[in-house]
Amino acid sequence: MLVGILSLVIIGKVSSPRFFVLRLEQLEGTGYRLRYARPQLIEGFENAWYRGTLWSLVVSTTASGALSYWVSRRIVLSLTQMEQITRQIAAGQLDRRLPNSDIPELDRLSASFNHMTASLEGVEQRRRELISDLTHELRTPLTIVRGYLEELAEGGIEPSAEIYLRLSTETKRLERLVNDLQELSKAEAGYLAINLQSLNIRPLLASLVQRFADQLHEESPILLLDCPPQLPLVWADIDRTEQILVNLLGNALLYTISGSITLSAWTETGKLWVAVTDTGIGIASEHLPHIFERFYRADRSRSRHSGGTGIGLAISRRLVELQGGEISVESKFGKGSTFKFFLPVA
Ligand code: ADP
Repeated sequence: MLVGILSLVIIGKVSSPRFFVLRLEQLEGTGYRLRYARPQLIEGFENAWYRGTLWSLVVSTTASGALSYWVSRRIVLSLTQMEQITRQIAAGQLDRRLPNSDIPELDRLSASFNHMTASLEGVEQRRRELISDLTHELRTPLTIVRGYLEELAEGGIEPSAEIYLRLSTETKRLERLVNDLQELSKAEAGYLAINLQSLNIRPLLASLVQRFADQLHEESPILLLDCPPQLPLVWADIDRTEQILVNLLGNALLYTISGSITLSAWTETGKLWVAVTDTGIGIASEHLPHIFERFYRADRSRSRHSGGTGIGLAISRRLVELQGGEISVESKFGKGSTFKFFLPVA
């Protein structure tokens, strides 16, 4: 507004009277006799100009002042409201959301803030569930171990290989839980050492299929390797890749009663894709977007029974990302699932 007023005043003051005088001189040149009327004409012009300028200044100042006040008030009100709500969220009320705003930028800010709060709420919810699950998971083996140890101490039962085996199974369960949690916290904090080198993963795929096939029994699904004899070298960490595949194959075995589990690999420009496809129970579409989130379990009762913690896929995703790849899943409930990831070609 200031720039507008200044330019109006300067241009009006300097150039407009000169143009008017020039015009008068032109008119005199064409035969008009203006000599006596000239001072009055100029004075009249200046008066009219001053009045016009004054009124336009009054109107524009009032209009722009009122408009600025109105706009800034709307912004300030929205910001104050946002500030109050963010304070409430910080105090733990994660179900609070910012309202929509008719200012597009603030509306976008509200939307992304609400998105962030919703995911925080999800994490908080899963954290609570995890604590209650962990308590449950820890209590069962601990109670069993304590029970046996007390009985053994009191001489209620005779020590036998079977009892020691049972005790060791229970402690293994505890160990797995602790290891998973430790691995996840390291992966998420970025402390996992990744040793990238160019390697051929075909021998790894073959040995994994062999290793898992040894664990299968008659009713188990069959395990297949579908992979060209020559694969390009990838830029990856062999131990981490093995960890990812053990996790995916382990899940496939856990959730597939009959049919087949196929480990396949193929190349695409600059990428080597590896997939684990099963004909198992599948994952319902509402769970699919969350399946890689930590502590997320599609079928809580089943995975609790199998000792699942909902951590394996979160670790796998982090490990794939640390090697510059991406992991995704496709699944049909009741039909089967395909987990696939790529590693960059060396
Ligand atoms: P968990 O230790 O519970 O197996 P994961 O992170 O490995 O944890 O898997 C998360 C959840 O994803 C599992 O609880 C299970 O519900 C689902 N899931 C994973 N793999 C499969 C699969 N191959 N078929 C069906 N469901 C699966």
